Amino acid sequence: MEIEVKSKDENEIVFIIRDAEVPFINAIRRIAMMEVPKIAIEDVNIVQNDSAMFNEVLAHRLGLTPLISNLDAIDGMEMADECDCEDYCPKCSVSFTLNKTGPGVIYSKDLVSTDSTIKPVYDTIPLLKLKENQNVELEAVAKIGLGKEHAKWMPTTVCAYKQYPKITFNEDSEVNYDLADVCPRNILKSDKRSKVLKVQNIENCSMCKACVRADENNYIDISFEPENFIFKIETDGSIPPEEVLSKACDVLNEKTDKFITFSKN
Ligand SMILES: [Zn+2]
Repeated sequence: MEIEVKSKDENEIVFIIRDAEVPFINAIRRIAMMEVPKIAIEDVNIVQNDSAMFNEVLAHRLGLTPLISNLDAIDGMEMADECDCEDYCPKCSVSFTLNKTGPGVIYSKDLVSTDSTIKPVYDTIPLLKLKENQNVELEAVAKIGLGKEHAKWMPTTVCAYKQYPKITFNEDSEVNYDLADVCPRNILKSDKRSKVLKVQNIENCSMCKACVRADENNYIDISFEPENFIFKIETDGSIPPEEVLSKACDVLNEKTDKFITFSKN
């Protein structure tokens, strides 16, 4: 198996995996989405809410506000259900307070955290709007959880793969230059001088087969390479994508370790 990084930035990584199998790649994908721990607001105690927004909706918005959850930030914290406290404690949670008076829009930056490392990823997420003299006062408790329990604990916004596209031309048929205009992603380029259709940026091909449908004399064929994959992980900013990937592999490792221990006994 070989891995090659195609592009990488703060919140997104795209890489190509060669010589792998679907069940393995899919296991990594599912664990990255569902079983990588992340911190998110779980309990909200609303003291006062004069805004037009219902308490439930406000609590839901707070839950979905991404909080910084990288390894350094949540190092040493316990999963809420594994902690030995009754409800929550500093070992398994971080508290936030919000106390603002209108008029104005209340943003994620107005949430005051008790932990300097765990705070909203973005400052400018609008939470609610207050009119003159309206007041909001609440306390929120963030806990560590898993994406399989609730989407707010999913670190990834996109976590998907596709098999590597393969475009082949039938040399016996006549070149159909019109196909270049049919492709919605401009993968094909007609080159009348050298009498071919050129393929450019093949990784961008979504295998929609619009070209195959428009092609009456079977000049083009679209398929995929079954053992090569293009994998994309995009996160909400709470955890860097490569950290999501490495944590997903750790989780998979722990699972397989259990099989190893089991088979040795
Ligand atoms: Zn606790």
